[in-house]
Amino acid sequence: MEDCIFCKIINGQIPSNKVYEDEDLLAFEDVNPVAPTHVVIIPKKHIETLNDIQEEDAGVLASLLLRAQSIATEKEIAEDGYRIVLNCMPGAGQSVYHIHFHLLGGRIFHWPPG
Ligand code: 5GP
Ligand code: ZN
Repeated sequence: MEDCIFCKIINGQIPSNKVYEDEDLLAFEDVNPVAPTHVVIIPKKHIETLNDIQEEDAGVLASLLLRAQSIATEKEIAEDGYRIVLNCMPGAGQSVYHIHFHLLGGRIFHWPPG
């Protein structure tokens, strides 16, 4: 946890462009955006991967998705469409081991993903 980049963003040790914050969640602009809109949405609780989710985390996971929806509306990408990505473990490209959703929008996304 001490070496976790996202925990450092939560406690202000690393600056970020915050999009939303409450008691349980934080959303901020990705430092290396891969789309015109690229927001990272995280729980304040340090959970490393989706593999580590417990039953007690169901509420916060639902809050993350609801927040993604409202940020998509605020960013005016809800009508055209957006993509939510959660990379779990190295095979999926996870690089920061503090669970997070990527909210991506503002361009066309292809399927299957790369
Ligand atoms: P992952 O690859 O784990 O799914 O996503 C991690 C994301 O965090 C990447 O898109 C990366 O650009 C972003 N990121 C890594 N370090 C920082 C940082 O210090 N500040 C911000 N705003 N984003 C970061
Ligand atoms: Zn963390």
